[in-house]
Formats: sequence, structure tokens, C-alpha cells
Amino acid sequence: MPRVADVVIRNALIADGNGGLLTAGDVAIGEGRILTAGAGSAPAGPSTLELDARGELVCSPGFIDVHTHDDAALIRHPGLEFKVAQGCTGLVIGNCGFSGFPATGADDIESVAGADWPDLDGYRAAVTEAGFACNAMALIGHNTIRSITIGRDRPRLATPAERAVMRGHVRRAMEQGACGLSTGLIYTPGKWAPLDEIIELAGAAAEAGGLYASHIRNEGDQLLESVAEAIRIGAESGCRVHISHHKAGGRPNWGKVAGSLAAIDRANAAGADVTLDFYPYIASSGPMAEYVSPESVTGEWADQNQFATCPPFPAYQGRTVSAVASDEGLALPDLVRRVLTAPGGRRTISIGFGMSEDDLVTNVRHPLMMVGSDGIPDLDGLPHPRLYGTFPRIFAEYVRGRGEISVGEAVRRMTSLPADRFGLMGRGRLAPGARADVVVFDPATIRDVATFAEPKREPEGVHWVIVNGAVTVDRGRHTGARAGRLLRHRAAEGG
Ligand SMILES: [Zn+2]
Repeated sequence: MPRVADVVIRNALIADGNGGLLTAGDVAIGEGRILTAGAGSAPAGPSTLELDARGELVCSPGFIDVHTHDDAALIRHPGLEFKVAQGCTGLVIGNCGFSGFPATGADDIESVAGADWPDLDGYRAAVTEAGFACNAMALIGHNTIRSITIGRDRPRLATPAERAVMRGHVRRAMEQGACGLSTGLIYTPGKWAPLDEIIELAGAAAEAGGLYASHIRNEGDQLLESVAEAIRIGAESGCRVHISHHKAGGRPNWGKVAGSLAAIDRANAAGADVTLDFYPYIASSGPMAEYVSPESVTGEWADQNQFATCPPFPAYQGRTVSAVASDEGLALPDLVRRVLTAPGGRRTISIGFGMSEDDLVTNVRHPLMMVGSDGIPDLDGLPHPRLYGTFPRIFAEYVRGRGEISVGEAVRRMTSLPADRFGLMGRGRLAPGARADVVVFDPATIRDVATFAEPKREPEGVHWVIVNGAVTVDRGRHTGARAGRLLRHRAAEGG
């Protein structure tokens, strides 16, 4: 007797996550797992829900966003509409050295007001009680543990005792199911950490099979040196390496991503284990206070950067720093000082246009390149459109538009490659027994519609999204389901 399925997707083009050609067939889901996937494989008996893909829609594993800043969003925005609307069923949190645990009490994007959890288990209990819509896998952030241990604004080396405390945080996080350690070596206080501190902490992650994910020290003039540093950290710590949002910022550096990828290829050929992610936009975004000060602001920077979220001056949002300064009749240093010293001014997020379209193409061609939105889920302002558009944009621009990669290959980069790399066991492939994280989308129409002027617009062409067997997007609409789980690294069950 065939099992009765909860959901059957009939007449689909199946992208199984392994990167090959699409095949026609059906996908059946029951009890939170894939029952069958393939031609004529679905049970004939009645299922609770039948979805018709009309021979046109692709059914694939749900996408995994490997670079998010959604640690606080799991609580603040538990529907994660900006993610599931793109077809994402999995997120990696804790990036760029900032994680939502241990709680710091700081007023920043990864922190939740009133949070007091001391570790990943405490964070897991809090987010699980509230419920959220996507699966998540956590990195522990170096900036976070350095802030707690030494202080955020202490530009000095760690003492041996402080290093032992930080190592303890990493070990505990790994025991509690983190997938590794992240750094953000341009940010406070990570930028004060010398190479040997990072090697020691990455070593603690490596002991438990973890990953070292890095926002490297410099993504512009010293891109190649910074990639070399990440490779060296991997070699000396024994830790696998993942380079976050690979890019070359600043016109004089355009094209360097090719040299960077070549260096990574050479290292991997010689025994290293390095992967990457990128997002498909020529603009970056982050906390303005980390990039500029009244002393350092230049006219060029002010022309290329705009306000995304500016809590003290919402009227500035969506406009360049130059334009605002001109309208306010202020010199650039005075405007920057006004914004950053106002109450809430440190929460200002800026967007900077500094990358080349050609470098995005170079990135997307690389077989170890995953997709990470780097979206900042601050919905009060005008966030970078990558928050809502990253995954559909890959299909619209690089699969359909430029033909750089196939649908099956794009799906592989978004599913099995990150699932294997970040230890989301039993996910990332449409195979019998796998967890039922599934997306059904139209390869002919899927596209991002979020723009820099109107960034909070959900994409088109994503029809159904299923998380742990629960229909979370139904015909493009969020159902309110919150079936996500905070997963444990490489854990078959409990994952
Ligand atoms: Zn970063």
C-alpha cells in the first residue's frame, strides 16, 4: 500500500539539488519528509493537498541563505516574510562576527531588547518558544564574544585569560550545535584582533568540525592580502574556511575578484578547503558608524553612499550623504557628526555603491560560490533591496538574463552546496527521506522587484514554499506558518 501523502506536487520540473538537468515528475511529502521524487513516483491515493506545477514550474529543495543577519529577526519578524517569499527555507545566522548569543545587551541589529541568554541553548529556547518561519543554523560571532569578554571599545590585545574565556564561548557554542565561528575584521572590536587570536579561536571551532566564516579584513585595496590571511587562518587552525560576501570595493580594485578566486583555487588544489558566497548587487550596506567618521568622510564617499535607515532623521533615508549635506547647508563632517551623535544615530545603516557588474558575473561563475543575501532586516527604513530580492535576482539576471549558469546549477549553489558546507543534515536535496524543505517557482518569471527606492517589495514567481513539511507560502502568499527550527550542526535527528 502506498503511503498517503500530506502534499503532492504533480507535473513538476524537478531540480533535485545536485546540479544536473531538470527532470519531469512528482514530489510527495509526508510527515515532514520527502516520500518520493521523480517520474510516476507519487502515491496515487488522495493527499491532503495537491499542487499542480503544470509541467512548467520547478520544484527544488528550499533555498539556503548562507549569509544573514537575522539573529534578532527570528524574534522581531518571526514570519520572516522577506526570506520565505524568495523561496528560502534555511538561513545561516551569526555572520560578520555578530551573533545574537551570548546576549550583549547592546543596541544593535543582532540584539534583542531584554535578552539575557548566556549561550546558544538559551537563544534557542527563546526563539523556539516564539516560533519562526525558516530553519536556521548558527555561527558564533567573534565581535560578540570579544565585546563580552574584553569590552566593545577596547583597542587592545586579549590577555591569555581573556583568550581562554573566548575559546570557552566557541567550544560551548559548538557543543550546543553551532556550525562554526564568524569574524568581521573591519568592525569594532574584531579589527583589533591579531592573526594569532583568530587562529586560536578558529582552532576551537575546528576541534568540533566547525567552519570559519569571515568578513575579511579588507575588501578593497587589500583584498588579495585579506583572502590570503583567511586561507592562512584555515591552514594554521585546521578549520575549513568560508569567505563571506566576496567582492572588490572601489573602482581601482574592480577585477580583483578574479585574482582572489584564482588564489582560492590554488589553495584548494594544495589541500585547503575554502568556499565563498556573494550577493548579486553592486552596492553594499552596513552600519554607517563603522565606515565613516567626521574626520574621515570625503566627497567621493558622500556621493557614493546613501542613508538606508536613519532613526534620528528618517527624512534622510533613500538620499545620498552629499545631497542631504547640501540641502541642510552643512559641511560633510558636520552632517556625519549630527547623525552619528544623535540619539539612535549609531543604528544608522548606509548603502554604498562601489562594485562592478563584471565582478558579479565572475563570482557567479565559480562552482564553489554560494548565495548569501547579507540582508539587514531593519524594516523601519529603506533597507538594501538584497533583503527581499537576492535569490530571485540570481535567476532573473544570471540564469535567464545572461545565461551564466543553468537553473539546476543555480539551485545546487542554493541548496546541496550550502547544506553540506554548513551542516544542515538531510536537507538541500529532493530525495526520499530528506526533510521536506521545498520551493516551487516559475523559472520563466521568477524575479526580484525590490529596488533601492522601493526595497520592501516581495519578488514574483515563487508559488509555494514548504518548511519542514508545512506550507508556508501558498500561491505567493504567506500562510502564517512558523515551522522553522534552530538546527544543530551535522545532527541527523533534532535537526
Ligand atoms: Zn559582512
